Amino acid sequence: MVQPLAAEIDRDHRFPQEAIEAATESGLMGVLIPREYGGAGLDALAFAICIEELAQACASTAVIVDVHTSVGTEPILLFGDEEQKRRWLPLLASGRLLGAFALSEPASGSDAASLKTTARRGGDGYVLNGTKVFITNIGHAGLYVVFARTGPDERAAGVSAFLVPADTPGLRVGQIFHKMGLHGSPTGELVLEDARVPAANRLGGEGEGFTIAMRALDSGRIGISGQALGIAQAAVDEARALMRERGHGQGDDFSLADMAARVESARLLAYHAAWLCGRGRRFTCEASMSKLHATDTAMQVALDTLQIAGDDGAAAGSPFERHVRDAKALQIYEGSNQVQRVVIARELLLG
Ligand SMILES: Cc1cc2nc3c(=O)[nH]c(=O)nc-3n(C[C@H](O)[C@H](O)[C@H](O)COP(=O)(O)OP(=O)(O)OC[C@H]3O[C@@H](n4cnc5c(N)ncnc54)[C@H](O)[C@@H]3O)c2cc1C
Repeated sequence: MVQPLAAEIDRDHRFPQEAIEAATESGLMGVLIPREYGGAGLDALAFAICIEELAQACASTAVIVDVHTSVGTEPILLFGDEEQKRRWLPLLASGRLLGAFALSEPASGSDAASLKTTARRGGDGYVLNGTKVFITNIGHAGLYVVFARTGPDERAAGVSAFLVPADTPGLRVGQIFHKMGLHGSPTGELVLEDARVPAANRLGGEGEGFTIAMRALDSGRIGISGQALGIAQAAVDEARALMRERGHGQGDDFSLADMAARVESARLLAYHAAWLCGRGRRFTCEASMSKLHATDTAMQVALDTLQIAGDDGAAAGSPFERHVRDAKALQIYEGSNQVQRVVIARELLLG
């Protein structure tokens, strides 16, 4: 169902509605949500495997489901009060609402603590103003987890998190960004102009937003690892099929062996990080190592398989060139791979 759509949605830059409906029917939108709130109640390892399988079929579909399930939903799961959980989680688990995560801004990407969006106290709630950029699921999401500044502190301590429904007056979709890959996954600007939310939509306390964002990104990186593994495995499988069909020399054989070994090592790292997360153990360092290794692996494997495929691989519309274009963004989002090194070094030296 999902895999046959991959080439077409990439070519047409179209949201894979039928794939998301299939994912919803399979219960994938609520993998991490406990059964009492309508989800499947599975753990981070099951989540990683689900995203890996989806990405093997279609990387765009995997990103949509991943962002919804991890950074779009987990903040409520981990930091929401009981009322917020009862109100939002069943809608997210059933796929009636698609989740999104709005942290990045035009002048604040890697340095997320410098964000400028404000949430000013007004009446019984907050009034949000600012622009978020590169927001996955833009225009299709029913609920955005938005990070905004509530306090005078100019860095992390002044940031709070808010649940902002898509139909909030003052919230609008701005520019849509056309990317080199992941064409089925919509990415764009979220503009907030005097968008008013009740105080009940603040997630956690004032000033806890940065902690919420960082925790969500820790487990989000397990999902990104799953995306990377799926793309890498699909590329290896296609190269293997081509080599069997067309014949192969020892150069190709060695390349295939190196790629397969590299993907398997990335898989074990990702599953280990997910296993630690699922058991409530510290996993920040392992999740960053996994994201770094899995996404670099996906990028390199995509390039190496295209090389094996030769001119057919370079032709527009071939799965080999699509994997190259899809893999690149993974090295950038949810913390670029340079930022993963910063996290790993900090954990090793200070942790
Ligand atoms: C396809 C896609 C989807 C996205 N989806 C979302 C989303 O849903 N929600 C959201 O909030 N954001 C999203 N983003 C934004 C993404 O998280 C940012 O692009 C990312 O955090 C990097 O920020 P930046 O692009 O502003 O790069 P910058 O922070 O400007 O970095 C530019 C370069 O400098 C390097 N660099 C920066 N700081 C350091 C440092 N301290 N040490 C070493 N090198 C450094 C970076 O690695 C990078 O190579 C998405 C991005 C993409 C491409």
